[in-house]
Amino acid sequence: MRQSKFFMPTLKEAPADAVAASHKLMIRGGYIRQVTAGVYAYLPLGYRVLRKAESIIEQEMENINVPEMIMPHLLPATLWQESGRYEKYGAEMFKLQDRHGRESLLGPTHEETFTEIIAKNLKSYKQMPLALYQIQTKFRDENRPRFGLLRGREFVMLDGYSFAATREQLDEQFDDQKSAYKRIFARAGVTVHPVIADSGTMGGKNSTEFQAPAAIGEDTIATNEKGTYAANLEMAKSIDTFKQEAEELKDMEKVATPDCDSIEKLAKFLNVPATRIVKSILFIADDQKVLVLIRGDKQINEVKLGHVLDANDVHEASAEELESITGSRKGGVGPVNADWADKIIADETVKDLYNVVVGANETDFQFKNANLDRDFKVDEFADIRTANEGEPDPVDHLPLKFTTSIEVGHIFKLGTYYTDTMGADFLDQNGKAQPVIMGSYGIGVTRMLSAAVEQHLTERGVAWPKEIAPFEIHLIQMKMKDEDQTALAEKLEKQLSAKYDVLYDDRNERPGVKFNDADLVGAPIRITVGRGAKDGMVEVKRPTDEKATEISVEELNEFVNKELG
Ligand code: ATP
Ligand code: MG
Repeated sequence: MRQSKFFMPTLKEAPADAVAASHKLMIRGGYIRQVTAGVYAYLPLGYRVLRKAESIIEQEMENINVPEMIMPHLLPATLWQESGRYEKYGAEMFKLQDRHGRESLLGPTHEETFTEIIAKNLKSYKQMPLALYQIQTKFRDENRPRFGLLRGREFVMLDGYSFAATREQLDEQFDDQKSAYKRIFARAGVTVHPVIADSGTMGGKNSTEFQAPAAIGEDTIATNEKGTYAANLEMAKSIDTFKQEAEELKDMEKVATPDCDSIEKLAKFLNVPATRIVKSILFIADDQKVLVLIRGDKQINEVKLGHVLDANDVHEASAEELESITGSRKGGVGPVNADWADKIIADETVKDLYNVVVGANETDFQFKNANLDRDFKVDEFADIRTANEGEPDPVDHLPLKFTTSIEVGHIFKLGTYYTDTMGADFLDQNGKAQPVIMGSYGIGVTRMLSAAVEQHLTERGVAWPKEIAPFEIHLIQMKMKDEDQTALAEKLEKQLSAKYDVLYDDRNERPGVKFNDADLVGAPIRITVGRGAKDGMVEVKRPTDEKATEISVEELNEFVNKELG
């Protein structure tokens, strides 16, 4: 490709609203342009990267015998009403009406469509296991679209769906997808950790996220150094190492604790460690009032709590709700005589404590020396706490390390969530009707490109991983009027293009301009044809090299093949 004919509007400065390094680079390099918030045009350079990522995906899906297809973007509301997600999905869904007043939407994901079109057509166990995928534009009216392609309102996703007659088949399909995903990310040059994840509104319980460590990441993952444990912080478990020595139970006593609206203040005021205080927080789970207890030095993890409560809506009681239900303001609420609570759930850290401080259900009052079972009851114990960095992981008991990261992929064992609610049965070996067992698999393809940039930034641009680089070789001619240079550059262009994607900078521009643009193109090899041309010499440079190296044209082939082969 001749650069004089290529459209690559580069900028000296990124727009002021671009925060993420990948966003800045893609705007400055002329990869993308924003059309409206969270919606981008993929210019030729950006589109080349996108197509390369898609082609890796196509090859790896082919490898595991998963065929590609395409579903419509425009979907009827009825489809989503069938699964119950039309309301549940919330404000992120782009809804619209057709001329007849029928409600429609733009697909944010396609579980319903695949259940309707595929699962409902599977009549016998003989047709399974089966999996299909598509690479398609998705629409989500994100509350805060940001960071360029990292969180768009229109973005490209690989989404795949599997259909199985047995749990064992699903497990195999899931493992196949997981290994294909690992290969996709490895080939795209994106370092990822597969981590234990929350399955959110997707239904189903078993899910793995692929998290790409990056400073700009919106997620936090907890890993150990051996890589034997990795979880999204939302789901991370840790071992609680605190142990209180057994003591004699003392008489419970009510004490005034004015102005103690935090554990720190309370601990200081009563001169006790936070581990001797039990925090009580009221949650409303659908219409149930649930009092949640946790040791004073720990924090409640609302995702874990949500799983334990298994309700549609879980939220912490507002100040008004709290006072009208418990008769106390924040800090005074507690489990003793909490008859207003429908249920009391406690974190495991509340077990084996003696003579603790709990709220007295009266503003600015606490009980001292309260004891579990004697003074208050707990209906259920569960792990509902947020793991802390440095705590032992649950597998090898190594210290947990936290890293910010970007969720680039997510795979779920859906089970029969959709096929039950939407009615997609097949006949099993015994001729009995059973719901099809499904899995759902997704990669944010455009988000993955941003993640690749975030992980491969250089001082002046990017060093694209070779399989997704827009061009593999950037051939730069220093002086267009120099005949020796033109002859050599054209010869190399012809030769190298037979095997590689070559961008030939044939523009009448100053070398400085050309080199700046080359930093933004980030091709794995830059070849400069300059003064040495008449002696058969060129300069080569990789984006991460500090300086260019002069080599002869004879050596060039070997160098290129070694780097790109
Ligand atoms: P997030 O928590 O980041 O909002 P999600 O849980 O909503 O992601 P999924 O519904 O699992 O995402 O979608 C599958 C994949 O699509 C994600 O792993 C992510 O890579 C990508 N993705 C999701 N939302 C966006 C978005 N707004 N822009 C770009 N990619 C996205
Ligand atoms: Mg989301």
